[in-house]
Amino acid sequence: MSGAERAELLDLAREAMRSAYAPYSGFRVGAVLEAEDGRRFSGCNVENAASSVTVCAERVALGTAVRAGARRFRRLALCASGARPVSPCGVCRQALSEFGVETRVVSVADGGDVAEWTLEELLPARFGAGDLGWRSVVRDTGEGA
Ligand SMILES: [Zn+2]
Repeated sequence: MSGAERAELLDLAREAMRSAYAPYSGFRVGAVLEAEDGRRFSGCNVENAASSVTVCAERVALGTAVRAGARRFRRLALCASGARPVSPCGVCRQALSEFGVETRVVSVADGGDVAEWTLEELLPARFGAGDLGWRSVVRDTGEGA
């Protein structure tokens, strides 16, 4: 992706971060998931007093995207309020991998440092549809195609 595209996506992630509900940790995260057709879906973390109920920004964006019919994603942009760029947590890596591991993840810290990976680099030995005998649910069933 070009520098301008990356900057635009990270600006949108920073904007999403401003909506975070993080009264307990103060750690705010914004995510923008870009579908193959160019549509973009944003999310922010939503904390809860019962901490296991907390939902990450990435899964908020993923749920919104799936609701809109998107099933393939080319990029995920993250912005977090910490000192260094964050990568998606293990649960989010697994959730995102359901829809393919080619997604590029770019992350910016609030201070400006940037890191970039593919989802496959972040979750190399994932459990997936193949473990259940499927090649890919999205490809094999046409779900959402
Ligand atoms: Zn997560």
